[in-house]
Amino acid sequence: MALLDRHRSSAIGAFSAVLVALAVFLLTGPSHQIDAPRAGLAWWLLIPVFTAAELVVVHVQARRESLSVSFAEVPLVLGLVYLNPLGLVGARVLGSALGLLRRRQSGLKLFFNLSMFAFEAALAATLYGLALGGADPSSPRGLLAALATVVVTDLASAAALTTVIWLKVGEYDEGVLGEAVTSGLVAALTNTSVGLLVVVLVDTRPVALTLLLAVVVTVAFAYRGYAALSRGHARLESLYRFTRRVQREVSVDAVAEIVLRQARDALSSETAELFMLTGEHAARRLCLIDEDVQSRPGGPARWMAPALAGQAVRRHESTDASGPRDALAAPLEVDGTVLAILVVEDRPHHLGPFGEDDLRLFESLANHAAVSLQNSRLVDRLRKEAETQEHVSLHDALTGLPNRRHALRALTAELTASANTAVLVLDLDGFTEVNEALGYATGDLMLRETGRRLTALATVPGHVARLGNDEFVVVLRDVVDADDAARRAQDVLAAVGAPFTRSELNIDMHACAGLAVAPTHGVDAAMLMQRADAALYAAKRERVLLRVWDPRTEGDSGRRLTLLGHLRESIESGQLEVHYQPKIKPGTGEAVGAEALVRWAHPDHGRVGPDEFIPLAEHSGLIHPLTDQVLDAALAQAALWRAILPTFTIAVNLSARSLTNPDLPRQILTALSRARLPRHALTLEITETAIMTDLDRALTVLHELNALGVGLSIDDFGTGLSSLAYLKTLPVNEVKVDKSFVLGAATQSADEAIVRATIELGHTLGLRVVAEGVEEAEMLGLLAAWGCDVAQGYFISRPIPPEAFTAWLTERVRTFPSVPPVRDPIQSIPHAGVPQPQPEPTARTVARTPLPAD
Ligand code: C2E
Ligand code: CA
Ligand code: CA
Repeated sequence: MALLDRHRSSAIGAFSAVLVALAVFLLTGPSHQIDAPRAGLAWWLLIPVFTAAELVVVHVQARRESLSVSFAEVPLVLGLVYLNPLGLVGARVLGSALGLLRRRQSGLKLFFNLSMFAFEAALAATLYGLALGGADPSSPRGLLAALATVVVTDLASAAALTTVIWLKVGEYDEGVLGEAVTSGLVAALTNTSVGLLVVVLVDTRPVALTLLLAVVVTVAFAYRGYAALSRGHARLESLYRFTRRVQREVSVDAVAEIVLRQARDALSSETAELFMLTGEHAARRLCLIDEDVQSRPGGPARWMAPALAGQAVRRHESTDASGPRDALAAPLEVDGTVLAILVVEDRPHHLGPFGEDDLRLFESLANHAAVSLQNSRLVDRLRKEAETQEHVSLHDALTGLPNRRHALRALTAELTASANTAVLVLDLDGFTEVNEALGYATGDLMLRETGRRLTALATVPGHVARLGNDEFVVVLRDVVDADDAARRAQDVLAAVGAPFTRSELNIDMHACAGLAVAPTHGVDAAMLMQRADAALYAAKRERVLLRVWDPRTEGDSGRRLTLLGHLRESIESGQLEVHYQPKIKPGTGEAVGAEALVRWAHPDHGRVGPDEFIPLAEHSGLIHPLTDQVLDAALAQAALWRAILPTFTIAVNLSARSLTNPDLPRQILTALSRARLPRHALTLEITETAIMTDLDRALTVLHELNALGVGLSIDDFGTGLSSLAYLKTLPVNEVKVDKSFVLGAATQSADEAIVRATIELGHTLGLRVVAEGVEEAEMLGLLAAWGCDVAQGYFISRPIPPEAFTAWLTERVRTFPSVPPVRDPIQSIPHAGVPQPQPEPTARTVARTPLPAD
C-alpha cells in the first residue's frame, strides 16, 4: 500500500513538473513577444487580489452537494490587461500561494496547485495575446478574447485536475470537467465581465471604482445573509424529513441507519456514529461509512463524556493528529436514560467548524432520534416476543423439539408433498417409573436424550416432535410400503433403545411404537397420528416393540379417551369390582387362597377387560387409586375367608408403576391393619417384565416389601427377558409359570420342559411354584405329578364375585380338608401391624391323592 502511494506521489510530482515546464515553455516561447494592452502596472499589486480571490469562495449549498464559486478569474482578467505574461504568472503563483498557505495547504498538493496556476496563467497570457491581436481590451473583440481565454484556461486546468485525480485514485472522475463546462462557464462569464468592467472604469472614470466596491460589499453582505438563511432552511428541512422518515421505521437497525444518514447530511459532516448504550444492541458502535452502516469495535471517546451524562458537546480542532478536527456529540435521551450517543465528525473545510447553531440543530435531531429509537426498541421487543410466543406455541420447552401442533403442520405439509409417508409414534418404556424413582431431573435427561437421538436420525426439521409426556413422533418420508416403514421404524427403535449412562447410573432406554402408513391407513395428518397412537397402545398392551395400525384389531384412540374419562369416574365413585379366582394344591385339591382380579363393568361400554383398562390406568396415574381399592377390597374379603380356611392367602396384582410409588409399603401396611390380616396372608404378584424393566429399582422395592413380611410372587414367569438365574437374586417366595406355557404343556414338549424346569428350579431355590391357566383335568394331574405347589385356572374355577367365592370355598373346605389341617399355627392368628417372618413355602411333596372333580 505504502509502495503504491509512493508510486502515485512520484507520478503526481512528475506531472506537476511537466506543468511547470509547459509554463516555462509558453513564457519563453510563444508569449515571449506578447505585451499586455495596458502594461505598466506593478505586478505585485495583483498579489493580494489573487490571495483574496483564493480565500473568498462563495458556496451555494444544495443538500450535501455544495457548489463553490471562485473569483479567481477577476484578477486573471485584470492581469491579462495590465501585466506582461511573466508578471501575471508571478502574481498568480505568489498570490495563490499565500491563499493556499493560509488554508494550510502544503507538500505535493501545494506544489501541484502552484504548478497548475503557473501553467494556467502562462497559457492564458499566450492565448489572450493571440486572440486579442492588438485590439482594444474593452472592444467587443477584446471582450470575446478575454472570455475565450478564460473558458479555455478553465478547461485546461480542469483537465489537469482530472489527470491528477486519476493519478491519485486511479479512477477517471468526469465530475471536474463536467463542472468546468457547466457552472464553470457561468462563473467565467460573470468573472470576465466584472474584470472587464474594472478595466473600462479604470480607463474612463476611475472614481466609479468606489461604486463598484460598494456593490461588491453589498452583495457580500447579502450573500452572507443568504447563506445563513439557506443553511437554516436546509436544516429545518432535513429535520422535518428526518422526523417523517424515522417515524415510518420500526426496527432499531433501520432507525439507527436513518439517524446516521440524516445527522451526517444535516450537519454536512464527513462521518456519523452511533454508540448504543442500552437495550439488546448495547455496546454497539454503528458507523456510517460512505453509504453503508457498519458495526465497528470501540466505545465512546473521552471527549464525549458530557454526552454520556446527557449533555450535548462540541469539540474544537483537535490538538492530537489522530482525533477528528472537530465534532459534535449528543445524547439520545428518554426519561433521563441515555440510550445512545450520536456523533458527527469533521466537515469540508469551506463550511468551517461546527458552530453553536450546529450544536442546537444536532441536539434537536438527537431528541427526535431518541424518541424514535425508544419506540423502535419497544416494537422490536414486541416483535421478538411475538416470535418467541410463536416458537413457544410450536415447540416443547424441555427438548426444544417441535410439539404436537408443529408436528401436525409438518406432517400435513409432508403429505401434500409426498403421499408415501409413515407416522411413527413412540413411547418410552418405564419412563414414568424412572421419573418417579430417580427424580424428574433424570426423567428430563432421558427425554432430552431421546429427542437428541431421534433428531440425529431425522433429516427434515419438524419430522421429529414430542407429543407430550414420554411420547414422540417421527415422520418417515418416502416409504415404499408398510413393511419398509416397519423396517425403518425398527431402526429408529434400536437407536432410541441404547442404554443411557448418567453419572454412573445406567438407565436402560426402551421404546415401543405404533406405526401408521399413508395412504393405506389414511391421508390426513390428524388421522394418521391418531392411528399410529392407537397402534402404540396395542403394542404396549401386547408388550411388543412395534405394531402397525390394523383396522381389525385397533380401537381408535377416541375410545381410549372416553374410556379413560369413565375409568376415572368409576374409580372415584368406587364402581370397580374385584373377582376372585381360586388357587388349589394340585395334589390334594385343597383350597389355598385366591387371586384378586379387578373387574369393570361400565353402563355404556359393558365389561371392559383389565388387559384394556389397566394399561390406561398405568398411563394416566389412575393405577395408584385402583391398586388401593383392589387391595382394600381383597384384604377385607380375605379376612372373612380366613374364618372359613385359616391358612387362606390372598394374591393381589401390582403393576410396574405401583413399584415406583414410594407410598406403596405404607399403603399396604395400612390396608393390612384395616383388615386385621397378618402380613403373610397377602401375596403381591409382580410381573417379570415389571421387574426386568428396571431391575435395580425393582430390587430395592422388592426388598422393602419382603422386609414387611408380605409374600412376593413373580407373575407371568417365562415371558420376560430374564434368565432363570436371576431368580436367586430376587427376594421372592413364589413364581407363577405363565399360562401360555401351562396351556401348551399338555401337548407341546417344549412347553412341558419349561414348566417342569421352572418347577424344579423354583424348588431348588426354595420357592413355591404356581401354575396358572389350568384349563383341563389332565393338566392338573400332570402338575401334581411334576410337583407343582399351587394351581389356578378355568378348570378349577373362573374368577368369580366374592359371594360366589364364599360358596366355592365353603364347599371346597368341606370336600377337600387340608392335610395336615393347620401346618403352621402362627398363620392362623391374625397379627396386623406386627412384622411377620416370611411364610415357608407350602409342601412340595407330591401327594398322589385322587384328582379333584370340579
Ligand atoms: P394375570 O395376573 O396373569 O391374571 C390372570 C389372568 O388370566 C386373568 O385375566 C384370568 O382371568 C386369566 N385366567 C385365569 N385362569 C385362566 C385359564 O385357565 N385360562 C385362561 N386363558 N386365562 C385364565 P384377567 O382377569 O383378564 O386379567 C388380566 C390381567 O390384568 C392380569 O393378568 C393382570 O396382569 C391384570 N390385572 C387384573 N387385575 C388387576 C389388578 O387388580 N391390578 C393390577 N395391577 N393388574 C390386574
Ligand atoms: Ca396375576
Ligand atoms: Ca399371570
